[in-house]
Amino acid sequence: MKAPPSVQNFLWRLAKDILPTRSRLRRKGVLNDTICPLCFEEEETPEHLFMCCRFSQQTCFSLTLGLHVPSHCCLKLWMSDWLNKKDHLAAQIFGITLWKIWQGRNQLLFQHQQFNPIQIVLSAVDFIYEFNAANITVAAVSRVINSPASWSPPPSGALQLNVDAACFKDESVGSGMVIRDNRGAVEFAATKLEKRQLSPNLAEALALRWCLQWILTTNQEGKFIIESDSEVTVNCLKGRNLLADVDNVIFVVIFSLSFPIVM
Ligand SMILES: [Zn+2]
Repeated sequence: MKAPPSVQNFLWRLAKDILPTRSRLRRKGVLNDTICPLCFEEEETPEHLFMCCRFSQQTCFSLTLGLHVPSHCCLKLWMSDWLNKKDHLAAQIFGITLWKIWQGRNQLLFQHQQFNPIQIVLSAVDFIYEFNAANITVAAVSRVINSPASWSPPPSGALQLNVDAACFKDESVGSGMVIRDNRGAVEFAATKLEKRQLSPNLAEALALRWCLQWILTTNQEGKFIIESDSEVTVNCLKGRNLLADVDNVIFVVIFSLSFPIVM
């Protein structure tokens, strides 16, 4: 991976499991307190800090890669999968973000600076820009960092909101939204996990309603472009679908809005 030695050194130590996380410091008899300093919910192992902690999950999800941390593989496999990608820029974004999570964790512990997932992402993006600009031979330079092929920026002055929902086997529903400006910079990102059993279509419609309610209740100004991959929801909005449960949600959405929907 093309990155400064400090980042490579960090990734090597992480892969070798010699990063001084709290669980490792306890194993060495240096520290008794092993709780994760970000969430205070679990022991701070490398797996927890970089994969399971909700703060690092929010960080990864806010990336332009829109990364969902896998629940079925270990940290080493996850790292090896991303760092060996042919897409050098994706590998860079991944590796440098892990490093920034570690830096953010250290700044919280030693300088009492708040850990803000969106700030972590922005500082990772800035860092990659600067590094690649100074190292013209890096293959990643030519690609526009904030515009992966699947995402096209909104017009200047507008914000783009991407929303998605997923139904899991344990009868829970996850929803996520990311709002970006036309440079691809993240303005806001959120996820939620609810214990409820829903059809995928209804989950998508409720996720859309959740986004619109967020726009309403936070008094957002300006123009939003909302992208959903749910054809049923979009067709219901356009009056082309007659799926009763989804239609009911969409009906509530449209009549609770104070602004017109342009499709
Ligand atoms: Zn945690």
